[in-house]
Amino acid sequence: MPLVHPDALHFETAVESYWEASADPLGLALSPLHRDETCDVAVIGGGFTGLSAALELAERGVDVRLLEAGHIGWGASGRNGGFACIGSHKMSYGTMIRRYGLEATRAFYGAMKESVALVADNAARHAIDVWKTMQGEITLAHRPDRLDEFREDQRFYRETFGEENELLSRAELVERGLAGPEFHGGLLGPVGFGVHPLNYVRGLARAAHKAGAKLHPRSRLIRWEERDGHHRLATAEATLTARRVIVATNGYTPEDVSPRHAGRLLPALSNIIVTRPLSEDEIRAQNWTSEVLAYDSRNLLHYFRLLPGRRFLFGGRGGTDSSDAAAPAYRAFMTDTFRRMFPAWADAEITHFWRGFVCLAHDLVPYVGALDDRASVWTALCYHGNGVAMGSWSGRAVARMLLDEKAGQAMPAVITRRLARYPLPLFRPLYLKGAYLWFNWQDNH
Ligand SMILES: Cc1cc2nc3c(=O)[nH]c(=O)nc-3n(C[C@H](O)[C@H](O)[C@H](O)COP(=O)(O)OP(=O)(O)OC[C@H]3O[C@@H](n4cnc5c(N)ncnc54)[C@H](O)[C@@H]3O)c2cc1C
Repeated sequence: MPLVHPDALHFETAVESYWEASADPLGLALSPLHRDETCDVAVIGGGFTGLSAALELAERGVDVRLLEAGHIGWGASGRNGGFACIGSHKMSYGTMIRRYGLEATRAFYGAMKESVALVADNAARHAIDVWKTMQGEITLAHRPDRLDEFREDQRFYRETFGEENELLSRAELVERGLAGPEFHGGLLGPVGFGVHPLNYVRGLARAAHKAGAKLHPRSRLIRWEERDGHHRLATAEATLTARRVIVATNGYTPEDVSPRHAGRLLPALSNIIVTRPLSEDEIRAQNWTSEVLAYDSRNLLHYFRLLPGRRFLFGGRGGTDSSDAAAPAYRAFMTDTFRRMFPAWADAEITHFWRGFVCLAHDLVPYVGALDDRASVWTALCYHGNGVAMGSWSGRAVARMLLDEKAGQAMPAVITRRLARYPLPLFRPLYLKGAYLWFNWQDNH
């Protein structure tokens, strides 16, 4: 089975998401790369990471062009759950502290918090209508025994990061309009808010364009040659020659075109359903009235939020077959799970279903840094399904590192050390299947 099925790479078509249906227009007349051009820095990928990098470079007066295979935000950035929050790693904090030390772990946590603030700042600074919702995110215990772990986590966050999380009993969840038969209590953190991701990514594109970055949608990089210290980046129509390149393609990275990434990334599917607008009676019947960002405590977690406009968004990681033929079964599975967890809404029609790729790293932390000895190829990626905020931050960070060696030294070591190769990369689809089986077993025992 291929890591990514060709069906999942129809760059010419927009995914049928609720975000595509409700977004503000981009409002820019951008054209593909029609003729050969040169620039100082080329950015590949027009999502949060690539656009944040392009914005930062353009604001500092760098001659930057960006190639995007689809339309702006075609990838995960335009189709995610809109959770601007922390958690872009799968490595446990215990392992992180052992491997990188306490200070580096704290610095990484600080960067994640800063990344959430950056999203709010971007929205304000560039006047982007991101549909910002209330502050905070909650993990909901899907089994009563998870509450003991929550108590431990609460203590850990307080002692390690000075972060106060609130432990809520089942009764307190009900009081706050967060009720469900599978929710036995919750841990509410203060950081995070919801956004309309496509509005946000389009707003970043407008800001980057205004600052002077040249953005080329429908310009898929198909061949990459290096000659005389320059990078020649070919699309079907023309070639962009650049002194330096930032690859910001995350779960859609073409390993055949960018061999420095080969064997180092594991794209994984995430799936979302959205309901029609719920009536006030329906919302009362379920007693889920809060717009706070919510997850359950499974390893294969579900994420969900009540959207402005009263639709409900319900997402989950899982499935390893990204062909179109496999999609209906996953839609049915997601719908059944949603109805089990929110029984009062069992009759609410599902109006949208879509999927997309997140990106995992072998080390289970993001990577931001150079990929070659002469520091001419850079990348920022692997947010482990959590890149609304961290992609924005990492795009800006990689641009700063490219421009100034000292900026790299100030970045948290957790994310700048290496982008390791998977052992036996051909077996990556099997790793994922194995991990899902193991997580599923753990979640149910
Ligand atoms: C269904 C789903 C739900 C998610 N929910 C959340 C959430 O709620 N909160 C959160 O924080 N994160 C979430 N994520 C993850 C988050 O969306 C990503 O981490 C983030 O968008 C990554 O941004 P990016 O710019 O690095 O990559 P992407 O947005 O994936 O952009 C990469 C771009 O590269 C382009 N590209 C690929 N190949 C080429 C090529 N050869 N030439 C030119 N361009 C190319 C693609 O077209 C794509 O647009 C979710 C992801 C998915 C799929």
